Amino acid sequence: MAFDRKAWEVRVIYKSDPRWWPCSKCREELVLVDGTLHEDGAKAGYNLYYPAEDFQGRFACLLSCKGCGLFVSVAGRSWRTVRETYDSQTGEDVFRDDLELTPHHVDPPPAFFPIPFNCPTEVVREVGRAFALFWCDTQAAANALRTAVEFLLDDRDVPRERETAEGRTTYLRLAERLAQFKQAEPELGEILEALKWLGNYGSHGSKVPIQKRDLFDGFECTSTVIDELYTHRPARGSVSKLAKKINDRRGPAWLQWKKGT
Ligand SMILES: [Zn+2]
Repeated sequence: MAFDRKAWEVRVIYKSDPRWWPCSKCREELVLVDGTLHEDGAKAGYNLYYPAEDFQGRFACLLSCKGCGLFVSVAGRSWRTVRETYDSQTGEDVFRDDLELTPHHVDPPPAFFPIPFNCPTEVVREVGRAFALFWCDTQAAANALRTAVEFLLDDRDVPRERETAEGRTTYLRLAERLAQFKQAEPELGEILEALKWLGNYGSHGSKVPIQKRDLFDGFECTSTVIDELYTHRPARGSVSKLAKKINDRRGPAWLQWKKGT
């Protein structure tokens, strides 16, 4: 199964009714241990009007899986918010003060998509780093996905080095390696190139950092290529279109400028 983007995009965690992600090991529900969540949200402001550090609360908690008993530690920031809920007794929408919880640390982090068992160890390691860094450092997470591309190309026997005319050994840039890979797999190569651009953008200190939605783009590209190479199930769907957008912009899909401008 590829990356379920929609499930992650709508995921907002509220203090009054925290719904976490499914357990990575068995997909069962994660719940608060002893129903306890520690937070100082009383000091937090509404995120819309008070973006300053002083108006963020902090929270920490321990979760356990109802199925396999796995423990997960979570810590992060909280924001005051107004939550709209439906009252089934009166049939009306009601607005309540609440706290929105944004995790910055999750251990072990959820797997955003399943990785086939025959995927190379180094690729699994780098994708796992991206899953962990997603919560606290989006730029570093984009970089981990880019590194995973290097290891994927190793596994497809694309060389990392070449010999120059003078007999010296030089390292090939990722762009050169991707060009070689594209000779055999043009469409998958385009999708991998998108991961290179997201990683590059994350590394070059841009004014607007890589965002979580950009990592979702990266997860879509990564899971599509991994599924196709290691489960032999074509799963490209609209991902090629997304990759083209990223490749044209040489960075996140929301960038305004295009190649050659
Ligand atoms: Zn479990």
